[in-house]
Amino acid sequence: MPTVHDDAFGPELRDLQRKNRELSSRNEKLAELLKTSRDKLNDLYAKVEELGEPASTYGIFLAPAARSGEAEVHTSGRRMRLKVSPLVDPSELVPGTMVRLGEGTIVVETCGFDPTGQLVTMIERVGDDRAIVADQHGAESLVLLAEPLRAAARAGDTVLVNASAGYAFERIAKTEVNQLSLDEVPDVTYADIGGLSSQIETIKDSVELPFSHPELYQAYDLRPPKGLLLYGPPGCGKTLIAKAVANSLSQRIGDGGQAHFINVKGPELLNKFVGETERRIRLIFERARELAASGNPVIVFFDEMESIFRTRGSGVSSDMETTVVPQLLTEIDGVEDIANVIVIGATNREELIDPAILRPGRLDIKIRVSRPNRDEAKDILTRYITSAVPLAAPREVLIDAAADAMFAPRPFVRLELVDGAEEVLHYSDFVSGAMIANVVDRAKKLAIKDHLSGVSTAGLTEEHLRQAVRAEQDESEDMPNTANPDEWARITGRHGKRVVAAEVIG
Ligand code: ADP
Repeated sequence: MPTVHDDAFGPELRDLQRKNRELSSRNEKLAELLKTSRDKLNDLYAKVEELGEPASTYGIFLAPAARSGEAEVHTSGRRMRLKVSPLVDPSELVPGTMVRLGEGTIVVETCGFDPTGQLVTMIERVGDDRAIVADQHGAESLVLLAEPLRAAARAGDTVLVNASAGYAFERIAKTEVNQLSLDEVPDVTYADIGGLSSQIETIKDSVELPFSHPELYQAYDLRPPKGLLLYGPPGCGKTLIAKAVANSLSQRIGDGGQAHFINVKGPELLNKFVGETERRIRLIFERARELAASGNPVIVFFDEMESIFRTRGSGVSSDMETTVVPQLLTEIDGVEDIANVIVIGATNREELIDPAILRPGRLDIKIRVSRPNRDEAKDILTRYITSAVPLAAPREVLIDAAADAMFAPRPFVRLELVDGAEEVLHYSDFVSGAMIANVVDRAKKLAIKDHLSGVSTAGLTEEHLRQAVRAEQDESEDMPNTANPDEWARITGRHGKRVVAAEVIG
């Protein structure tokens, strides 16, 4: 007879017991499945790791392939479609990246951009991701730009390429050349220069005309000048002129083109190591050629040119004369067939410059940039005392007052010459554009002081200018303060009589 128990719970209990048996058998199966899966997984891991083991070659990742898990890769001179290991983070696979290939055919690792390669010059961008480049022989090719270059690269840059992969990776700043020079277009225009109208006229005729009308020069079989030598005392506008030439040529080409201005300071080019100065000269002209290759004009400006370009045989430094001067001549001759490179030299010791530099095809045009006379000084003053500035008197009156003060006969130095004769030089003998610019700056500061202390808010006065001239004459670093006869010969421009003594009396 069935018990109460059996009656009440029998079917349920049996049901549970059956389920229990079923579950534990399923459990066993799952455990087994888990084990085999784990074994398989371990197998796979081992295989994946193996893939990474032998690093036989490297390649350049070009693009993901249509099928996922595969990539277009340039390796061993060929474009190939390769499998990509699942261990490689897809976000690191950017075009141009170097990749390591396990067993030669599977991408197993990304290695960043190739840090080595060939240097070429960028000529022109083509769309967003390509550019025309030229090697040092001028051979042009079309390359793809790696991601980091797309925003940064511009024409004239030196870039690193893997020529066979056809990829450019990196912009290389040629620091050595950049240290010696800057090649931005200066913002100086001819209108900023006072007093030197005939010099500017000559330059416009000789440099700008052939540049803007090369066809006429060709038709008349006339060779455009390769360069200019600007000579004259310091601070009178030689650098300004060179910069204005670059600026003006930039304006002429328009259309987003620009002239380049490579500013080379002669003394900074000198180096005591044999051959180093020559190497630097070569680099500068290499840079000029690169920049000119894009069709834009390039001004190579040598300041204090006499420091690297002394007459050979003058015995100052035999090294320099025997190798540096010829190197510079060779380079200048070398740019002759590049229409848009113009070399401008500046010096205040023109008597030291090797005459070879002035031969045709070199710095054919020699222009003297002298100290301003009174009228020219007034013209320079108009560049600095403008009507945009608060003026307490009519502009012409202020300019006159400043010129009067500068050209007042205030004695500066008494020179004793070799034959016992005496000569007195005045401060007015040393007026320069640089000095005039300083005077006006000083006067403006005096006006600001008066304004702040409540003396007067009327603006620049004649008295400010007079005081400024006085202070500038008293303190000017440009004023020669030397007893060296050579220096005085240079300053006065009189080479005949030797100065034996100099006494500052001002
Ligand atoms: P350098 O003849 O030594 O090359 P710069 O051209 O460098 O002289 O002149 C130095 C500074 O003096 C200029 O930056 C400018 O402020 C001023 N200056 C010189 N000459 C002139 C000028 N003719 N007109 C206007 N400013 C001038």
